[in-house]
Amino acid sequence: MKEDYYDILGIDKSASAAEIKKAYRKLAIKYHPDKNPDDPKAEEMFKKAAEAYEVLSNPDKKAKYDQFGHSAFDGSGGFGGGGMNMDDIFSQFGDIFGSAFGGGGGGFSGFGGFGGSGRGQSRGSNLRIRVNLNLEDVANGVEKKIKVKRKKRAKDTTYKTCSTCGGSGQVTRVTNTILGRMQTASPCGACQGTGQVIDNKGSGTDAHGLKTEEELVSIKIPAGVEDGMQLKVSGKGNESPGSGIAGDLIVLIQVEEHEHLKRDGENLHYDLYISYPEAALGTSKEIQTVKGKVRIKIEPGIQSGKILRLKSKGLPNLNRYNTGDLLVHVNVWTPQTLNREQQQFFENQLNDDNFEPNPNKSDKSFFEKVKDMFS
Ligand SMILES: [Zn+2]
Repeated sequence: MKEDYYDILGIDKSASAAEIKKAYRKLAIKYHPDKNPDDPKAEEMFKKAAEAYEVLSNPDKKAKYDQFGHSAFDGSGGFGGGGMNMDDIFSQFGDIFGSAFGGGGGGFSGFGGFGGSGRGQSRGSNLRIRVNLNLEDVANGVEKKIKVKRKKRAKDTTYKTCSTCGGSGQVTRVTNTILGRMQTASPCGACQGTGQVIDNKGSGTDAHGLKTEEELVSIKIPAGVEDGMQLKVSGKGNESPGSGIAGDLIVLIQVEEHEHLKRDGENLHYDLYISYPEAALGTSKEIQTVKGKVRIKIEPGIQSGKILRLKSKGLPNLNRYNTGDLLVHVNVWTPQTLNREQQQFFENQLNDDNFEPNPNKSDKSFFEKVKDMFS
């Protein structure tokens, strides 16, 4: 029995397009194969989620699925042969992670080592690398120079048109069946669908006349990227033999955890600890932000749990022009032991009206403030 697409994404049937996208995005990041190497379970979840999203994100397919369930896709246009392949899934990512990523391209499954579609131009295979960023890189955007091992055409390798398929990359076979003569086109075996074969194989090259070389590739990473996003550098994957075009370099973004700052979309959170006397007397504190240190003033009488909002000290949004805030959570540190004098001091205050908690209506509770902040 096939699992329900809504269950896979953990959403309700009434979920909006935005909710469907959000649910998928979360799962895609969680089960991304680069994050879960050699974990077949994660890979399966990753594929399942992609398949569910593929259907539920398409209004037409979704309507059919809502009406007929999985049987809507029995026969044609389904995922009969073991679901979607990884390349389809990755090409779908452009849509999920914003227009700056992916889009176009796609289809580098290919046959043999060549890649390419067999229809038209052949294409080299894509390469994948990971790039680690810290929050400062995310805040400012960064250009990374990364050494990439690419297969490149060797100068002394030459190609000629494949004589088997005449350069089309396809061979047509006619078979007699009980239904009559059937014509099927399949990739040409002699040239692996590229339409060209090696005329002269350069020295030190592989069977396709390609040589693996290390190249320094410069990758511009825009500000505001998130962990799990993929960036495509066109034409920096493996080159294709013959006259084909090079594949792409797919860059998986990994954002390192920050020592002090927690990310929540474009907002950042910082836990500030101050002492009892500092809370009572007021103080000023230096805060580490992604754009350097800033000093903030703490008013006398500040309450533990108060959140100070530093406008635009968060992270830029990738797709919009705004910048998030830095939310400083004030925690008043209560000493765990007291010496005799301190003990005496606090005991003296026990019945003092001034130390009696007296939150008035303008002093919202911590939870009310958090609710306000996110509504
Ligand atoms: Zn051929």
